[in-house]
Amino acid sequence: MSDDECTAEFIDGTYTYCGCEDCDQREYDDIEGEVEMGNLTDAEALEQHRRNGAL
Ligand SMILES: [Zn+2]
Repeated sequence: MSDDECTAEFIDGTYTYCGCEDCDQREYDDIEGEVEMGNLTDAEALEQHRRNGAL
């Protein structure tokens, strides 16, 4: 609890962010991280990037 960074919530398989520039970057990294951990398929990750406007 040492900073005021935005937090992302993983709800129903989708990350929810406030939409600021920092969140956009973290969102992208988090989604890619979920793929690496096997929590998301490549197709699901693509869908989330698209929904979040990252692609
Ligand atoms: Zn934010």
